[in-house]
This record gives sequence, structure tokens and C-alpha cells, in this order.
Amino acid sequence: MAKISAMDIYKLLPKTNCKKCGEASCMAFATKLQNKKAMVEECPIMNAPKFEAKKKELVELLSPPVKEVWFGYDDKNHRATMGGDEVMYRYELTYYNPAPFGIDISDNLSDNEIKERAKYIENFVFERTGEKLTLDFIALRNASNDPEKFKNALQIIQENTKMPISLCSINPESIEEALKIINSKPLIYAATEDNFEKMLNVLLKHKKETNKEFALVLSSKQIKTLKGMAKECLNHGIDDLVLEPHTHPENISETLDKFIALRRSAIEKEDKLLGFPILGLPINTYFYTLNNNSISQFIEEPNKAAGIMEARTANTMLIRYADAIILHGCEIWELMPVLTLRQALYTDPRKPQAVDADIYPIGNPDADSPVIMTTNFSLTYYTVTGDFEKDGVKCWLIVLDTEGKAVDVAVAGGQYNGENAKNLIEEKGLADKVNHNVIILPGLGAPARGDIEEKTGWNCVVGTRDSSQVGDFLKKNWENILEKIGKNN
Ligand code: SF4
Repeated sequence: MAKISAMDIYKLLPKTNCKKCGEASCMAFATKLQNKKAMVEECPIMNAPKFEAKKKELVELLSPPVKEVWFGYDDKNHRATMGGDEVMYRYELTYYNPAPFGIDISDNLSDNEIKERAKYIENFVFERTGEKLTLDFIALRNASNDPEKFKNALQIIQENTKMPISLCSINPESIEEALKIINSKPLIYAATEDNFEKMLNVLLKHKKETNKEFALVLSSKQIKTLKGMAKECLNHGIDDLVLEPHTHPENISETLDKFIALRRSAIEKEDKLLGFPILGLPINTYFYTLNNNSISQFIEEPNKAAGIMEARTANTMLIRYADAIILHGCEIWELMPVLTLRQALYTDPRKPQAVDADIYPIGNPDADSPVIMTTNFSLTYYTVTGDFEKDGVKCWLIVLDTEGKAVDVAVAGGQYNGENAKNLIEEKGLADKVNHNVIILPGLGAPARGDIEEKTGWNCVVGTRDSSQVGDFLKKNWENILEKIGKNN
């Protein structure tokens, strides 16, 4: 599918430049729509009857080939949103809606265990490059197959958290009971070829009686069956669908083949019946005994071998189109690689990852503290400041605007240079902050030393290649450096 241009969108807008959408012109609004930074509804002029046909055309034009589906609460801070993809490969545009991660809770746990696990999931956070990486939903698993237990567990979760919930049961009676008390839009897992008719009846009854929304996972090993079920659901007005073509951790290539086939059908062939987010279930790892790869009892207790396999399965699925995943293991060593990969995958490749250029005081420095120069590439900045904090380094950190490039790349590209450094040093008044004239450069910045000394008039010393060695380097050398070349009067 060809990428939609801002001009394609502009042609359908009213072109009055009235600014009622908050933008300076219709073209500016078109660019925001193109980048998913605005909704068509934000142009009030389009609500006039004479624009009805164009509005419809515009909404269709902007609808991604993979439908965006959300569940959770009306309040956007308590929602899990998935899908909305427009391209097969990230370099073609970007991936929207970072895949939500759900952690299961078994309804066989005690009330207190359910509460504790729900709280743990809600409060889990791992900070990386200044971003707080969190979990997104609770997958309530009807392990008991008892509708009453399922409902009771749901009640406890709702009373103790405001996490979006996936109701996981293939028993239509359990789903029916849970739907009676749920206070948010759930993701229902799942309608299968075996329970399809009964599940559909339960859901249609719920819809008719309450008019409440839900999203539904369709689960089958056969893509043809998924397509048939999707058609039936759409015919009944159930259109928030998610596809689950079965996850086989012991045969991940077969699983990935199906993920890829689904995504190709949606994006390249524009098959509307398969244009829905894909759910991956790395949690299935816990259904397998790891000795002989055969299906066995679910392993509820933490299990290192299963956890490693689960993390590996999750990472593989994320790379190949999983729009949401459900995990069982929730220890930091298992979640860290998966969260890190998701952060990298859903970073917009068109935007450099950068922090503001500035001179930052690190660890309450004084006039005798060293001055160290790095770049504004986020990963560099957070690695450097993390290492400095760990080693108790006190310094003035010059963070040069290198357009978000790391030191070696910025040296090669010419952004880590004397002119840039001079402007920042003067603008931020570095000379008034310290009583010496020394800047320590990272080892990889050595080629720029001459230029920086010449343009800034400051003495440069080349330090270590790695910021984890700076603490030690300063302990051994800073007094000497100050003594020999740096101290002003
Ligand atoms: S409100 Fe609509 S018509 Fe007015 S400037 Fe914005 S896009 Fe154009």
C-alpha cells in the first residue's frame, strides 16, 4: 500500500484555513493527521453536512490496513492499544502502538495472591534511557474452568487495580459470568472453532442487553478458519477483533510463518478480514515440559528454563508482528530484554533520540570539579549519567547538540566539533561555573581535540573510552591535571 501523503489528505479537507483545529492552516492539520498526531474530528468544519462524504472518505483513507484495537477504560491512561500498523518494515515509516504486554493471573490463586500479583503487575517499572517501561494489562486466566471463581478473581482485580483486563477462558459460561461485573472494555480470549457458536451467542446477548464494548480474540491454527470467524463476527457487528494463530514455543518457525502470512495479507494484499492485530502467547512455554517438548500441566511456579524460553519466544514474536503478548514470568531478568526490544522497535526511526543540549551539574559539583563533554544521544547521555551516579562522580557535563548522534558517529559526521562546543560553553557561561580551563573528552572524541581546543580556547584532555571507567580515571588523575594545566590563578 502506498504511503498516504499530506497532499492526499489536504485535498479532502475544507481548505478554509480557519484555524479552528488549532493549526495555522489546513495543510498543517493534514500533516498532523498524516503523522497520527490528530483525529479527523478535531476539524469542526468537517462536521457540516456538506462535508459528510469527504469526511467518510478521509476516515477510510486514514484507516490503517491493520485495525487499531483498544481495551481497558475510557480514560486513555488506563488503556491498552494495539495494531494500527501501516507498513511491513519499520524503516518504511514507523510502527505505532507499542505492543501491550499482559501478565497472567490464575483464578486458582488465593484472594490475597491474586491481589498481590495484580498490584505487582500494576506497579512494575523498569527505567531505560529516561523512559519508564511498564506492563500494560492483566490476563485473567480461567485455570479453574469455574465461572464463579473466574468472576471472583475479576472482582478482586478490579477492586485493587485499574489495569486493562483480558478475560482468558474458552468456556462461554465463564465469560458470561465475568461480563456481568466487568467495569471496563475487556479483551476476550477466545472464540475458537470449537466454542465459536456458543461464545458468539454470549457476546451478542451481552452486546444487546448492555450495549457495552469488548474486543474479541479469534483463535485457530488455520488462517482460513480465522478468516471465516472474522467474517461471521463482522456480519454481526463485532469488529474489534484480534487474531491468534496459535503459539508453539517448541516450533517457533511455524508460528512465525503464520504471523508473517497474516501481516502480508493485511498490508500487501489489503485483506480486510485479516486486517487485525495479532496476539502472541509466549506464556504457552509454561504448558510444555522442557525435556520432551510435549504438552503437560501448566507450570505455575517460577521456572528458570521456561522463563528463558518464554523471553526468547516473546522477543522473536515481537520482531515478527506480534501486536500484543501475554507472559507468565514476571521477574525483571525475563522482562528486561523484552521491554528493551519493544522500546527499540517502537522508536520512530525518523526522529533522533536526543536529550536537550546543556551543561548539566552532576552530583552537586563545585568550581574545582571536572568538566566532561559528551553528546546528546539519549542512550549515551543516560549511560554516562548512570555510570557517574554509580561511581559518585561530581562534574559539569557538557551535552553537545550532535543531532542525537553518539560520540564516534558525531566525530565522523562533524557535529562533535569546536564551533558547537564554543557556542554552548559561551551561552551557558561555563567559565563562571569553574575556576579551571580543562575539558575532558571521551576516548572516542580524541580526533576532535585540536578543533575544540582551537575554537574554545580551553585545554582538552582525552579520558577513557568507556564512561564506566571515568570515576577511576578522575580519582587517579584529576588533581594532577588541575595542578599541571588547568587551575586559573
Ligand atoms: S479547522 Fe478544518 S478547515 Fe479549519 S484550518 Fe483546521 S483543518 Fe482547515
